[in-house]
Amino acid sequence: MTRDRQESYRDPDHYESDEDEDYPLLRPRRGYGGPFSKVAAFFTPSHRLTKPNHADVIRNIAYAVLTILVLAPIIWIFHWLVSDHRPPYDRVPLGEAERILLGVPQNGTVRKWSKYYTSGAHLAGQNMSQAEWTRDKWESYGVKSELLPFDVLLNYPVSHSLEMRDVTGRTTFKAKLREDVVQGDPNSKLRDEVPAFHGYSANGSATGHLVYANYGTESDYRKLRDLGIDLTGKIVIARYGKNFRGLKVKGAQEAGAIGVLIYTDPGDDSVTGDEGEAAYPKGGARNPSSVQRGSVMFLSTGAGDPSTPGYPSLPGNETKRVDHETSDVLPKIPSLPISYEDAIPLLQSLNGIGPVVEGWAGGLEKWEVEYAIGPSRATVHMVNEVEWKIERIYNVIGTINGTLDDVVILGNHRDSWPAGGAGDPASGSAAMIEVVRSFGKLLETGWSPLRTIVFASWDAEEYGLVGSTEWVEQYAPWLARNAVAYLNVDMAATGPDFEASASPSLNRLVLEATKDVRYPSKVVERRKNPARKKHKPPKVKEGKTVYEKWAKRTRKEGGHGPEIGVLGSGSDFTPFLEHAGIPSVDFGFTGHKGGPVYHYHSVYDSFHWMNTYGDPEWTHHTLTAKLWGLMGLRLASSAIIPFNVTEYAGAVDGYVEGLGKEYHEFDLSDVKGAAKELKKAAAKLDAEAVKVSNKMMTARRMSHRRKIALLRSAKEINKKYRKFERGFLDKKGLEGREWYKHVVFAPGLETGYEGETFPSLREALREGRVDVAQQWERRVAKAVRRAAKMIETILETECASAFVPR
Ligand SMILES: [Zn+2]
Repeated sequence: MTRDRQESYRDPDHYESDEDEDYPLLRPRRGYGGPFSKVAAFFTPSHRLTKPNHADVIRNIAYAVLTILVLAPIIWIFHWLVSDHRPPYDRVPLGEAERILLGVPQNGTVRKWSKYYTSGAHLAGQNMSQAEWTRDKWESYGVKSELLPFDVLLNYPVSHSLEMRDVTGRTTFKAKLREDVVQGDPNSKLRDEVPAFHGYSANGSATGHLVYANYGTESDYRKLRDLGIDLTGKIVIARYGKNFRGLKVKGAQEAGAIGVLIYTDPGDDSVTGDEGEAAYPKGGARNPSSVQRGSVMFLSTGAGDPSTPGYPSLPGNETKRVDHETSDVLPKIPSLPISYEDAIPLLQSLNGIGPVVEGWAGGLEKWEVEYAIGPSRATVHMVNEVEWKIERIYNVIGTINGTLDDVVILGNHRDSWPAGGAGDPASGSAAMIEVVRSFGKLLETGWSPLRTIVFASWDAEEYGLVGSTEWVEQYAPWLARNAVAYLNVDMAATGPDFEASASPSLNRLVLEATKDVRYPSKVVERRKNPARKKHKPPKVKEGKTVYEKWAKRTRKEGGHGPEIGVLGSGSDFTPFLEHAGIPSVDFGFTGHKGGPVYHYHSVYDSFHWMNTYGDPEWTHHTLTAKLWGLMGLRLASSAIIPFNVTEYAGAVDGYVEGLGKEYHEFDLSDVKGAAKELKKAAAKLDAEAVKVSNKMMTARRMSHRRKIALLRSAKEINKKYRKFERGFLDKKGLEGREWYKHVVFAPGLETGYEGETFPSLREALREGRVDVAQQWERRVAKAVRRAAKMIETILETECASAFVPR
């Protein structure tokens, strides 16, 4: 069937459409021989004594085909239970498969992959060779892989400059806008491969007086307004931190500013020179010339190619495009990222002018920066010349076909701002090669998954989650039907601390995986006893589990132990969870206060930095690969999807309670009632899942009739788990940002990275718009009830009787 794809994907109802195309690489393993004929006959009238006529034959064939199509997955499992010939996914029992999988990732190997990925520039749309290399690597491990192109709007830096002029017009300072080449770090020589600029920044120049705006958050701009500082015609200087950089530009633009400079203040770093720590490469403190590149798209309003909002940027001229000048997710004023070294003279020019706001001081006081607001008497002249292009990007997609249509997706982006990008994203990309290699080893044993596994190496994430978003938009109907979960790793390792955020239904899966993955064992030399000649041989001390270390650390920090966060945005899980309602996880190992500074989006996010400070043993890369593979395997191979919706319902109930405490005068009874219904339905479904799961262990001793009933129950439970999160989608989308459809989770409109619960409702309450808040309370309650409805259980006995053949 053919239809105008672009139009069809604009359709707000497309998530429920039935007549969509399947994903091209998938070949579900139906047609597993023998038992089909037997079972098909079981369901087909076979008592006919007279010779059948022509119409009957056709009808019977159609009936048989239909039966096979509908029942194939069930028959599969049926066959597994009734025969001695186990199907591929069960040839290697899950425990054994896990053992094989966890044995593959190695520190030495992952280091090798990181070395490759950090060897040259891989900016979005300019990394074809790395895409091909990734595909070939995956193929070499037996995973069928291909490059999937999209033609997307990007911009690239052409030239830039920044200078300050005194009242006579004389230039008093010219910014370097360039990182230093440092000894021992070959990546730093590649500093000009991707000059420091802002992705999707507006082309142009600006001349004006400077105003300091702290972090450039909504409340910072409000503070400036309250102080009577008019930003019209001004250039804003703000520091990185607190909110997504695009929102700093958005706030400045809305306040009338004509340009924005964003610098990295060492006062916000984990270690600063104040502790006596030398700057990189001699020590772990920030290198003064480091610059944080990055996108200035308004990410909390929408993601993906801004020229094709809500539909895929398919290659070719047929794709309709919105002019970037009119896009509501792109800034209209130019911006530049700068180092703190370059920021010092600019901030010094504000000394003694305008108020100094409490709490707005950073770490540059020893350079005589007073953090006064200004506006400066000197003028600042900035130029940001960028070139807009429709560029071809490539996602690499690898597939291991499963028996069922269900699909589990593991993804990481490949494109990077600096030429190296050892942490972001090479640590994730290197870990992913190890994951694919692990599954390759499993495939060699004859194993295959029950559910299809898709590996994705996304392009153009850095500009605005472009590769993943276009892919999700292209396959939205197929994903709505079949997607079970999406497991994202962006930065696998930039420090030693495990962190995870997830849809609450996946919390248990994450926790269990961290309990089953261990740090490497250590060989401990035992003390020599001088009285004896012989001393004891060294002892092997088993490594702690990821969970144990995580728990210890979080308790030390004053928490109650491991906590899984709320997903916001800033990486590729966004289109999956917040646009398409697919349960997602994002995890990795990060740095902490007192640890070496991670030079995010700077040329010093290099192989040398990683090898010296970030993950010198490469253990955290390997641990990420193991956790990722293990979660993927459990999702793809467990007979019952390892979800826990009670956890989700509890979380929703908690969010409602939290909101009630914050806005106690507002009536939340509708959504409260819905949350209670959800809790009830969730507890029932999870209990049923445990029961069926337990019964399946003893299924070999059951009658065929009982087995089929049991399988029917398992199928029903899985279907409910799969659909559950989709219940929270609101077709019309969130207020002012229709692309975001999840009513429970979205990035905070004012923060960008951080997740916010009940986003539109919360915003309306925060702004005191009671009418709108009431409407949203009803919409949220409706969505929560919809999710509850999706998991309402039919009793197992009813299930069974409905299925027993007559
Ligand atoms: Zn990244």
